[in-house]
Amino acid sequence: MTNITNYIVNVSEPVDPIEAKKIRTQAARYSVVAGELYRRGFSTPLLKCIDQQQADYVLREIHEGICGSHSGARTLTAKVLRAGYYWPTLKTDCAEYVKKCKQCQQHGNLIHASTEQLHAVNAPWPFALWGIDILGPFPLTKGQCKFLVVAVDYFTKWIEAEPLATITSANIQKFVWKNIITRFGIPYAIISDNGLQFTDKKFNNFLENLGIQHQFTSVEHPQSNGQAEAANKVVLTELKKRLGMAKGAWAEELPKVLWAYRCTPQSCTKETPFRLAYGTDAMIPVEVGEPSFRRTHFHEESNDGAIRAELDVVEELR
Ligand SMILES: [Zn+2]
Repeated sequence: MTNITNYIVNVSEPVDPIEAKKIRTQAARYSVVAGELYRRGFSTPLLKCIDQQQADYVLREIHEGICGSHSGARTLTAKVLRAGYYWPTLKTDCAEYVKKCKQCQQHGNLIHASTEQLHAVNAPWPFALWGIDILGPFPLTKGQCKFLVVAVDYFTKWIEAEPLATITSANIQKFVWKNIITRFGIPYAIISDNGLQFTDKKFNNFLENLGIQHQFTSVEHPQSNGQAEAANKVVLTELKKRLGMAKGAWAEELPKVLWAYRCTPQSCTKETPFRLAYGTDAMIPVEVGEPSFRRTHFHEESNDGAIRAELDVVEELR
């Protein structure tokens, strides 16, 4: 890649005419900004070209860092590109990295197959349809929690989750109010199984008073909750991976796991839940450690406008 930088900055070509032609063709896809080489990406405007040492850091941070989610090779590649980095052996390096990761080997990747097979269910607007589920029991936390209530928006795949001490309909209602309604508005429908906490009359009155439909998975729409269930499996697998020996500390790990999930492109949407929800990707730690284009070239004045422009095209993504 130093050849390309040389060609662009110093207009110096290799002596060999075939090599020279190759460089000219390649260089059309690159730009030099403030002395740094960037590749024009398809998914992001400019990808920072980094060397092997920087690449090692980026891979480690994105795969297993504090916003990492131990994703498979393909997702890892997508995450690196999305975060704004490029190097010539990116794809191979991602595959190698995942193969060598001890945690990935230990816990397998139960979830990769199942999410691929999902049928896309289209919601008429974002946050209109939520799948809701209970996970657990997990080891008892300090706060006496051992269950997890999880809700997944069908469209953006945004996840909300809270640890619970007991599975009661009152707790579910509180969760729906706090984590769904006050944050995302009143949904069109909530989809759940036939668990007692969901069929409870008081809870269903609460939904009815807000004009929210309650659909049950097992009766009429046997498959419609499949995505929520698969996404729940993602959380579950992440929790298992992340917690390892932490046992009772799973609840403390939860925010981190949720963040990693929200910043990972999902196979069914090819986008991160964060981007589908907010119109642009979250600033993640790797971009701090290895400054990306948007970090290096941030302008307070033009940022508002740029975010508005992203929000304008978010409909296109959805
Ligand atoms: Zn891993």
